[in-house]
Amino acid sequence: MPNLSVLGAQWGDEGKGKVVDFYARHADLVVRYAGGSNAGHTLVVNGRKLAVHLLPSGVARPGTLCVLGDAMVIDPTALLTEIDDLGRVGHPIDEASLRVSGRAHLVLPYHQELDALREGGPTAIGTTRRGIGPAYEDKMARRGVRVIDLLKPARLRQRLEPALSEAAARIEQLGGAPPDLETVLARLVEQGERLRPYVADTGVLIAEAIDAGRTVLFEGAQGGLLDIDHGTYPFVTSSTTVAGGIGAGTGVGPHLLGALVGVAKAYVTRVGEGPLPTEITGEDQERVRKLGDEFGSTTGRPRRCGWLDLPALRYVVRVSGLQWLALTKLDILAGLERIPVCEAYRLRGRVIEHLPADPDDLAAVEPVYREMEGFPPLRGDERAVEELPAGARAYVQMVERALGIGVCLVSIGPAREDTIVCHALP
Ligand code: GDP
Repeated sequence: MPNLSVLGAQWGDEGKGKVVDFYARHADLVVRYAGGSNAGHTLVVNGRKLAVHLLPSGVARPGTLCVLGDAMVIDPTALLTEIDDLGRVGHPIDEASLRVSGRAHLVLPYHQELDALREGGPTAIGTTRRGIGPAYEDKMARRGVRVIDLLKPARLRQRLEPALSEAAARIEQLGGAPPDLETVLARLVEQGERLRPYVADTGVLIAEAIDAGRTVLFEGAQGGLLDIDHGTYPFVTSSTTVAGGIGAGTGVGPHLLGALVGVAKAYVTRVGEGPLPTEITGEDQERVRKLGDEFGSTTGRPRRCGWLDLPALRYVVRVSGLQWLALTKLDILAGLERIPVCEAYRLRGRVIEHLPADPDDLAAVEPVYREMEGFPPLRGDERAVEELPAGARAYVQMVERALGIGVCLVSIGPAREDTIVCHALP
């Protein structure tokens, strides 16, 4: 199989984990390109459930090499915990199954401290408090500490000292207690020794794998509407989540990314603050949240639920150049009499079909809904589109027509087998 890129097309939590897992069967390498431990997947390994935040979904597949790419931010404590957890359930990780880019930046204790202090104040944006934003800030300010620095204690001190002193001033200003340099340093040196075997120039590794005819699956985190440039700023994540970030985030030319597959739920959810034009009101909100188990896998927070937002989805299809869509959680809409779908927005009396750039406009838009026929509960054993009830088939066709791209896969349950392949990918 040629390479493949799977990325979120909404506000994250679209079910990428399941879709990546499905396609990872064919992949020799699974590569993450952005974000850090603010992502989250649940893996089932040797019958035990395991939550991972940094490691890609392919990590539990024997023979797959997982790569944490250049543009990620990595919390060494979180990474070592995940490695240990997998070992404990009988799936030891070694350098044949995991490689970490030396260019990736580190998320350090002062980043988490800063994140938590800010989220406790009036400028909260609903982050996961894992220090992701502050780590990217340091990267862009060119005072970040990178994975490669872990391997040289003298350089680590040199990099850490000014970064920590800068952070300490901000932490004190916010009323917090900054961590001690020597304590942070000693821990990092120790962690660096454990991580040493995994550190690599991962761009070279990926390029060599492709040259040797191996298949690479690039795995996104979060979703297009949370992209730092193209998302609903400032309620966004601090990295590039759209497809343009894949090559830049892994050191691979954009022509090597393979088919670009967006993952979208049959409805929408959002965690934290920020606009959600189709947010459901009343009982239906609770119903969708409960049926869809819409609670954050990293934070446990209840997710806000909304009806499918086509203008927002069309926007991500364009910005990421998506060629296919994997539509997940169609089963959650079953049993509703009618299903509202947002086809366009009304903005001060005018109908628009695009996502406005001005946050005031985005806050002011009202969804223009079309009502789709509901469909009865699925049996669960449907394995072809033709086996779905007519209403569910019409829903899938409506999505394809509205976006102008094909639905390659429909997911109707959390398990691997609850998957309907509509189109084999080229
Ligand atoms: P991700 O971050 O994009 O991987 O999404 P999450 O893991 O946060 O959310 C997906 C959740 O929905 C997981 O618990 C999946 O097991 C579950 N899930 C995925 N696809 C389906 C589906 O088609 N139907 C149902 N009912 N659950 C699904």
